[in-house]
Amino acid sequence: MTPDLERLVKLQHLDSRIDEARRTIASHPERLAAADARLNAAKQAVDAAKQRLKDNQDARRAAEKDAALYQSRLDKFKDQLSAVKTNREYQAMQHEIATAQQELGVVEERVLERMMEGDALTVEVKKVEALLVAQQKEVDAEKKSLTAELAATEHTLKETSAARAALVADLPRTLFALYEQVSKARKGVAICTATPDGLCSVCHVRLRPPVFQTVRHNDTIVQCEVCQRILYYIPPPQPVTPPTTVTP
Ligand SMILES: [Zn+2]
Repeated sequence: MTPDLERLVKLQHLDSRIDEARRTIASHPERLAAADARLNAAKQAVDAAKQRLKDNQDARRAAEKDAALYQSRLDKFKDQLSAVKTNREYQAMQHEIATAQQELGVVEERVLERMMEGDALTVEVKKVEALLVAQQKEVDAEKKSLTAELAATEHTLKETSAARAALVADLPRTLFALYEQVSKARKGVAICTATPDGLCSVCHVRLRPPVFQTVRHNDTIVQCEVCQRILYYIPPPQPVTPPTTVTP
């Protein structure tokens, strides 16, 4: 391969790494925000579960208050029962007592329901609190690794950019201009291989036999006639024949 073609291959490799590093750096704030969003969701789940438990406790207290009220009314009726004089009064009071008893039963049932519901909600609060602790740990670790990754990527970007500048200094200006022009037009891929069966490895067009023949020599700048990318050739690895062992 000519030194210039070799430099172009290296340049493409560096540019791909630079591009990847830039994309990683650009996505950093977004990835941090995504981690924070997950943590916030876990916090909101805890707040919501606690609110449901509080609502339940309020409802239970209200029902208990009602129950106490109905109970005292029932007690009062029972006290009055001993004081009635006539049979009619007695029957009327009995009726009042039955009604009060029924109402008390309904409210007591409600208290019981709220208690059972409260037990389930307490379990739920504990569950989402545990999830929040786990999520907090996970997000802390993720942020730490994201920060480390950002530093490493920034370092890589600095190194590859310096290597690129050195490489570009050694390239003929017209060749570099061609590389830049194709790279710009072709989403950052200016040079690619021709496959062993004579295709452009990126746009997959079949190269004309004389073109492919020239590319195989790796000694001239040849562009794909369709996508304009500069082509080079890596011969397929020769099949390795196992060494025959000779037994003496
Ligand atoms: Zn092509």
